[in-house]
Amino acid sequence: MKRLVVLGAGESGVGTAILGKQRGFDVFVSDKKIIGEHYKKVLLQSNIIFEEGKHSEEKVFNADVVMKSPGIPDNVPLIKKLIKRRIAVISEIEFASSYTDALIVGITGSNGKTTTTMITHHLLKNAGLNVGIAGNIGKSFAQQVAEANYESYVLELSSFQLDGINAFHLHIAILTNITPDHLDRYDNDFNKYVASKFRITKNQTENDFLIYDADDDVIVSWLENNSIKAQLIPFSLEKELSLGAYIKEDKIILKYNTQEVLMDVKDLKLQGKHNIKNAMASAMAAKLLKARKQTIAESLSDFEGVEHRLENVQKVNGIQYINDSKATNVNAAFYALECMDNPTVWIVGGVDKGNDYNDLLPLVREKVKGIVCLGLDNQKIIHTFQSVVDVLVETAGAEEAVKVAHKIANKGDNVLLSPACASFDLFTSYEDRGTKFKEAVKNL
Ligand code: ADP
Repeated sequence: MKRLVVLGAGESGVGTAILGKQRGFDVFVSDKKIIGEHYKKVLLQSNIIFEEGKHSEEKVFNADVVMKSPGIPDNVPLIKKLIKRRIAVISEIEFASSYTDALIVGITGSNGKTTTTMITHHLLKNAGLNVGIAGNIGKSFAQQVAEANYESYVLELSSFQLDGINAFHLHIAILTNITPDHLDRYDNDFNKYVASKFRITKNQTENDFLIYDADDDVIVSWLENNSIKAQLIPFSLEKELSLGAYIKEDKIILKYNTQEVLMDVKDLKLQGKHNIKNAMASAMAAKLLKARKQTIAESLSDFEGVEHRLENVQKVNGIQYINDSKATNVNAAFYALECMDNPTVWIVGGVDKGNDYNDLLPLVREKVKGIVCLGLDNQKIIHTFQSVVDVLVETAGAEEAVKVAHKIANKGDNVLLSPACASFDLFTSYEDRGTKFKEAVKNL
């Protein structure tokens, strides 16, 4: 019996353990932290042996294969020792994909992964495919491979998941964009992070596709300098293309074999330039999988959006409150500010991952009437923007931030929470931050 050791008992770890057990492995799960109640219960019910609060080397080093959760960096001593011993260390996606023949559409990028994954799944489901969804959403891919029977999957893939792949193969890969993020995990080397994102194309052949943002200079220059086997399918907001998806006279055009006018941009349910891009990428994937044009257009006009991503919360005294708590980097906040049509009070701040706010200056000058800082250390934000906006106030909680913003805003304005930072100084997660923001709005 082969021994599978799973490091980390979160969603992907527990899913891998379940699949491994089902496929006849001797499974052992090890988590350095205390395992959450829910996952502990699942492990016990499935008769899977585990330890918590430590990694016992003698129980880990006798593995034939190790599945490492995406949260564990490569450079911790335990992983280094495993690699030195030539024990295979793979990701959940790699492990699970070897037990399914399902067609895979995978989505990566610095921003827009979850949104594009959900749109693509929505389109393919409406087109009649028997399609599952996994990644940051719902049950892990591994658990679904064990328990469900999908013929295709749409998978959200982080660069950490991609770092641990070997033979994993995607029929359609979507690369939404590449901007600096998580550089701490890549020796602060942007090129390493870019290379990691492009691992999504690793096992693709001439019969597969890479759908990518042709307006993204990082992606385009990487493609110019590296050869990729998959067929390249660009999308663009800025130029007309001989192949791919683009905009002409405010209509989305899809060009692959045939040329089709898909729909008016204004009929997309999700607004904002970045969402037009996400919609084009998803529509192209659906077209490659032979979905009907009408189904694609209808599905894009009724897709409801995803919580904490430019989510319209409600209007209070004519002021529109928008929750974009998932904007944890500068690029995401850029797109949020860009699609503000009314004067905006911007709630920003948190744990800064090496942010450079200068790119936001023109947008802030044009659209932002006041800034409410929501973080423990706001020095960089204050330094960059204090001379650009009339009002700048520091706060240290969602309720306070919303009350202050409400005072600054007038009828017809927006109050936008788009923090450009992680949430861990004041909140447990971006969901917690977004939820507290929404509660505070309801209590106004
Ligand atoms: P991810 O899963 O990659 O973190 P999400 O879909 O959760 O992406 O969106 C994260 C943030 O990025 C949100 O604030 C959202 O409004 C913004 N966003 C979504 N799509 C894009 C895009 N194509 N380019 C830039 N920002 C985007």
